[in-house]
Amino acid sequence: MSEPSGPQWCPRFPTSTSLDDLTPDFGDAAKAFISAMKKGGATVSVAATYRPPERAYLMHWCCMIGGSGQDPAAVPPMAGVNIDWSCGHNLAAAKSAARAMMAKYEIQYPAALVSRHTQRRAVDMTIAWQGTLRITDFNGAAHAIASSPRDGSNSELVGVGKSFGVIKLLSDPPHWSDDGH
Ligand SMILES: [Zn+2]
Repeated sequence: MSEPSGPQWCPRFPTSTSLDDLTPDFGDAAKAFISAMKKGGATVSVAATYRPPERAYLMHWCCMIGGSGQDPAAVPPMAGVNIDWSCGHNLAAAKSAARAMMAKYEIQYPAALVSRHTQRRAVDMTIAWQGTLRITDFNGAAHAIASSPRDGSNSELVGVGKSFGVIKLLSDPPHWSDDGH
């Protein structure tokens, strides 16, 4: 028996917030960049690193059913996720359950099945500082960042991140990865 879809699935397969769950190369780059920011007095809060593929599967298909007209009965199965997207072939219940999952996940954008997060190559983090952020980049050059905004979208900070191999995706405020995707 499979279990009907619904928000009780959302806490399962949690997203990691540990930098140790990233690939060794990107994990080291992210640690060095974060350490440099903290040394300069910035606060850095990591919200997400590795997203298990099972979670990506749940997030993707609840969006497709709840928001895009996907036939719940036609969703491909995933090993290890014994979910009944069709809720016993009750379309209204299936859509309602999928929307409840979208709400619980607080989905902002339709979720991709494969992303830099499932590949252990991305970090979501909130960054803030006051006044001027004095930070040394990967090449040893000192920067005094006095410009606004004082957060992760600051273009000078984006340049410093790049020197470490941590690349900003500007359209997604907390998101950085090894290639900007
Ligand atoms: Zn992200």
